[in-house]
Order: sequence, then C-alpha cells, then structure tokens
Amino acid sequence: MLQIANLTKTYQKKKVVDAVSFTIEAGTFTSLIGPNGAGKSTVLGMMSRLLKSTEGTVYLNGKDIFQEKDEELAKQLAILKQANQMTMRITVEELVAFGRYPYSQGKLTTEDHEKIEQALIYLELTDLRTMYLDELSGGQKQRAFIAMVLAQDTEIVLLDEPLNNLDMKHAVQIMHVLRRLVDELGKTVVIVIHDINFASCYSDQIIALKNGQLIIHDQTEVVMQPEILSTIYDMPMTVHEHKGKKISYYYK
Ligand code: ADP
Ligand code: MG
Repeated sequence: MLQIANLTKTYQKKKVVDAVSFTIEAGTFTSLIGPNGAGKSTVLGMMSRLLKSTEGTVYLNGKDIFQEKDEELAKQLAILKQANQMTMRITVEELVAFGRYPYSQGKLTTEDHEKIEQALIYLELTDLRTMYLDELSGGQKQRAFIAMVLAQDTEIVLLDEPLNNLDMKHAVQIMHVLRRLVDELGKTVVIVIHDINFASCYSDQIIALKNGQLIIHDQTEVVMQPEILSTIYDMPMTVHEHKGKKISYYYK
C-alpha cells in the first residue's frame, strides 16, 4: 500500500503541488490525469523520491520512503520518467539488465539473467534483444523501457506518460501489458496519462489533479462523468457507454 500524505511542492514560493493526499491499494491500476501543468509529474516524482517534497511524505507499506536506503527502495519501487532520452548506444538486452542493478550492482547472477529473460519474453522482445535502442520504433523502444522496469521486479511500478508518441495499436499494446502486470503478477501500477479513454478502459481508479490540487480520487466509473470531467478540463465533455466501458468526448 502506498500512502501519499499531504504532499506539497513549492518552486519560488509557488505551490505547484498543494497538500495532496491519497492512498493506493496494492494490486491496483491507477491513472493520474489532469491538464498540462497540473502537477502530475511532480507528484509522481515525489512518489518515487526523485524529487524532494517541500512538505508531506510518502509511505510504502507503512515506511517513509524518504528514510529508506536507495537500494532498498529500488527493490520495491520502479519509475519510468516522461520522455526517455537514452543517449548511450546500448542494446535492448543491456537496457533491461540495468533493471537488475539494485540487486547485482553490475555483476549479474543466474537469478538476474532469469529476470531479464522473463521481462524480455513478457514484453515480446526476445527477437529484438540484440538491436540497439536507436534502431527501434517508438513502440518497441517504450516496450524495452517497460521491460527494464519489469526486470527490476518491484511491487510498485510508476510510469509518466508511457503512451507518448505511440500510435493507437502500440498504445493499446502497452496498456494491455500494464493491465497484465496487475492481474497476472499482482503489481501496483500508477501511470500519468492524457487519454482519459485509455484511462477509463484499463484502470481501476482515476486520480485527477488540477492547479496542484487533488480534484477527485475514485473508482474509474465514478470519475467518468460529464460534470466531473468538464470541471477537470474546463471544457464541456460527454460520457457514453460502450460494451460496459465509459468513453468521453468533448463538444463545443
Ligand atoms: P504536469 O506533469 O501535470 O504537466 P508538472 O508536475 O510537470 O505538471 O508541473 C507542475 C507545475 O510546476 C508547472 O507549472 C511547472 O511549470 C512547474 N514546475 C515543474 N518543475 C519545475 C521546476 N523545476 N522549477 C519551477 N517550476 C517547475
Ligand atoms: Mg508531466
């Protein structure tokens, strides 16, 4: 269980995240939505300790993550940041092996190799293992980064806009994989996502931020209502049902 308690981030006296609190249950899939600049990446950054909080903290299974040792936290929580610009020329397999660093510090054991293999198989990357990242398409590259996170073998997986630059088919593929991480492997997944319809179709809960504040945190079907979405995005939104899933459109 991940408890976000009164998280606040201030830059030059401006509160970009303002006393945000919520709880994420283990084994669930949560989407963090909201307009540009709402504070989503800042919240995810503090949840992973990449960013220091100005106030408030995050508890992972009751322990304050800011008090945790680096390698201990890295065995429990993995984050994939927005827009991965990997400048090193490395192969898919080498990238995935980075996920084992918290365990092996570079000297890979048999278990490390097994975890790397499992991650490659899970993301259907075995045929691409010797390819260099700069030879891959956007979707393939994104899958390679997710495989690295999977190889890290953590309970919590945080991803900031994992669908960026992906076409519809590859976006669906990524959302499927993330859903399977929850359903088959029991992982806790939290993503920042702009497409509310993908959020609606794949996540259990939605959290909406706006101007650094939490607007709503509830079951997906509760958040997917025209009044709520219109408030989040400051524009008129409709909600339709299709095969039991709620889909939203904007209108003028
Ligand atoms: P989102 O991910 O929801 O688009 P962010 O969390 O990236 O929003 O940013 C929230 C707000 O904080 C924005 O107004 C942004 O300009 C500001 N911000 C983010 N990082 C910094 C920083 N390092 N210094 C100053 N302001 C920042
Ligand atoms: Mg962001």
